[in-house]
Amino acid sequence: MKKIQMVDLKSQYDHIKDTVNASIQEVLDNTAYINGPQVHSFQKSLEDYLGVKHVIPCANGTDALQIAMMGLGLQPGDEVITADFTFAATVEVIALLQLTPVLVDVNPDTFNISIEGIRKAITPKTKAIVPVHLFGQTADMDDIMAIAKEHNLYVIEDNAQAIGADFTFADGTKKKTGTIGHVASTSFFPSKNLGCYGDGGAIFTNDDDLAHIIRGIVNHGMYERYHHDVVGVNSRLDSVQAAVLNAKLPLLDSYNKARQAAAEKYTKAFAGHANIITPTIAGDTDSHVFHQYTLRILNSDRNALMKHLLDKGIPCAIYYPIPLHKQKAYADSRYDENDFVVTNQLVEEVLSLPMHTELDDDQIDFITSTILEFFIQ
Ligand SMILES: *Cc1c(COP(=O)(O)O)cnc(C)c1O
Repeated sequence: MKKIQMVDLKSQYDHIKDTVNASIQEVLDNTAYINGPQVHSFQKSLEDYLGVKHVIPCANGTDALQIAMMGLGLQPGDEVITADFTFAATVEVIALLQLTPVLVDVNPDTFNISIEGIRKAITPKTKAIVPVHLFGQTADMDDIMAIAKEHNLYVIEDNAQAIGADFTFADGTKKKTGTIGHVASTSFFPSKNLGCYGDGGAIFTNDDDLAHIIRGIVNHGMYERYHHDVVGVNSRLDSVQAAVLNAKLPLLDSYNKARQAAAEKYTKAFAGHANIITPTIAGDTDSHVFHQYTLRILNSDRNALMKHLLDKGIPCAIYYPIPLHKQKAYADSRYDENDFVVTNQLVEEVLSLPMHTELDDDQIDFITSTILEFFIQ
């Protein structure tokens, strides 16, 4: 059996080596390392794939979130609501811009931001909601957009973990995640569902004016060369990364299908187990693209299970071990522990298993049988 990895980028590369290498070679040959034709063609291809008017590539997913918030003109003191159970980048940029992060609890079944939590957190200072499509599953966009409309708030989708997922609205229409809110961010970090071979990110919007503002912000606030109209940043997707993404974007759907197929096999193996809660797929199959496959381990010692797996050579991880409201950088005396019951519980229960496009049946069987064996010891 091939060595099991949390993410197996080498085996994935082996399948696409010729296309990726040829794509990178073009950049080396034309030396347009910054803003080369590859960046432009990737932008267009991603706009077509997502069905969104504007994709603005940038340096990474954290920048993408920050630039989206700058583009919306959010001001110091404005409150921005986001989930307590997510990667820190989301809350980090809110704080960095001197906006006030307001963390709210998540749903125990989907791990996504709680609608009730959002409603409770809204004040006259609230300006935006940042739903994170966590682990690849679409957040509840029907309700989030309705709340935003009712309270005149911006919605910034953090789509770093769910590129390619479809959200199905109550009326049956479907949209790709990242094209539903006012603006969205994504990351092309190597282990993400669409990953490059370094850092990369992008901002998406259907709003022409906002897209124009953001195109200036990513380039030092310039709309005309050497005229700096607004305070900007330097955040670019380089041409080599765009070349890698051009080779991989046509494969994104098949990559997501491979993740979904692996998830289905895991879930089948654990069906009905008293100590294991498998991930809920809240909507249609394509509402979850399994950036992570995350179990909840009940009435048992999750950390001992983790050690058991690591001892057998099976990597696994806890995403995320500490709720954001308990992180030193983001603790706030306004928070009440009673408002974070679910996140506080999830951090004790969650365990993410190896999840990538190259998992084979032998590996999945070994992982599932090693887990099941732990409970009958
Ligand atoms: C990965 C990730 C980011 C940040 O992306 P980078 O490209 O690493 O800066 C932001 N939000 C979430 C939810 C992520 O998973």
